[in-house]
Amino acid sequence: MILVLKPGAPKEQLDELLGRIRSMGLDVHISVGVDTTIVGLVGDTTKVDRLVFSSYDIVLNVLKVTEPFKKANRMFHPDDTVIEVGGRKIGEGHFVIIAGPCSVENEEQIVSIAKELKKIGASFLRGGAYKPRTSPYSFQGLGLEGLDLLKAARAETGLPIVSEIMSTDVLDRFVEDVDIIQVGARNMQNFVLLRELGRTNKPVLLKRGLSATLEEWLMSAEYILNEGNEKVILCERGIRTFETYTRNTLDLSAVPAIKKLSHLPVIVDPSHGTGKSWMVGTMAKAALVAGSDGVIIEVHNNPKCALSDGDQSITPSDYSSIFPKIKKLAEIEEKQLEV
Ligand code: PEP
Ligand code: MN
Repeated sequence: MILVLKPGAPKEQLDELLGRIRSMGLDVHISVGVDTTIVGLVGDTTKVDRLVFSSYDIVLNVLKVTEPFKKANRMFHPDDTVIEVGGRKIGEGHFVIIAGPCSVENEEQIVSIAKELKKIGASFLRGGAYKPRTSPYSFQGLGLEGLDLLKAARAETGLPIVSEIMSTDVLDRFVEDVDIIQVGARNMQNFVLLRELGRTNKPVLLKRGLSATLEEWLMSAEYILNEGNEKVILCERGIRTFETYTRNTLDLSAVPAIKKLSHLPVIVDPSHGTGKSWMVGTMAKAALVAGSDGVIIEVHNNPKCALSDGDQSITPSDYSSIFPKIKKLAEIEEKQLEV
């Protein structure tokens, strides 16, 4: 349920209203906009009579929120959320490019890719230190050593770093070392992990689960938001469908849908979304035009020998031909490229 307040509601009356809501065992989420202030009621409101609130002088309107996600809901927070990380803005009117290898493999690899990306233009460096692989015999990532190598690449280039966390036992190290913590598709519903991330102040890049509906994805965001961390960035990375030509089916319609349902920034991963390096540039451009706030792209200096996801990795040279096109499209779409 949300209460739309009349402009200029006096503080004492607002406090009285908030006290009443809290006395009913509900939590409040206040969003102060330019013209209106919105009070969102969080908790079980099924038995709450809307008339209780419409009798307050300062309440202009009482609306029922039918979706189960509340803090992620645009009704609770009409303005787009903008998250600032390392001097880059993510959200309304800004466009970020996160680029880098699927896995951090060694110092030479990650530092050289980072330097090339920096030279061409990128907002963040990505690199997996903990890899969620289908087979236990595949490369599992360098672990904490991988985080150290990412830090070395950041020190060389100034590019803030994004890396995937898989379990809470290394949370402190991620909070300390990484600029944006990625939650992979396979952990989208690891609620223990999401809750713990919600208790930090770190931006979280929450990928859509392999077969998650938009509502399930937003409910996962809700777990993080509900613990107090408002820095959630959603990432569409393709879903399972009957189609087998591509690795996943990149659901670009999720972008405008999420924009309608939620105030959270949403970016697109055309690498995992297609599984094919030659499709990455096209789908990255489509993602921008579809209204996304950024892309995350796998770039490897030698894709054929990559320890993971070589088929979908583009080279720095491919990246250098895609980048100017994204730059041009960002101008057309009136988005500020954050590089
Ligand atoms: C990745 O980013 O390398 C990754 C494993 O992504 P996803 O969780 O989307 O499969
Ligand atoms: Mn990958």
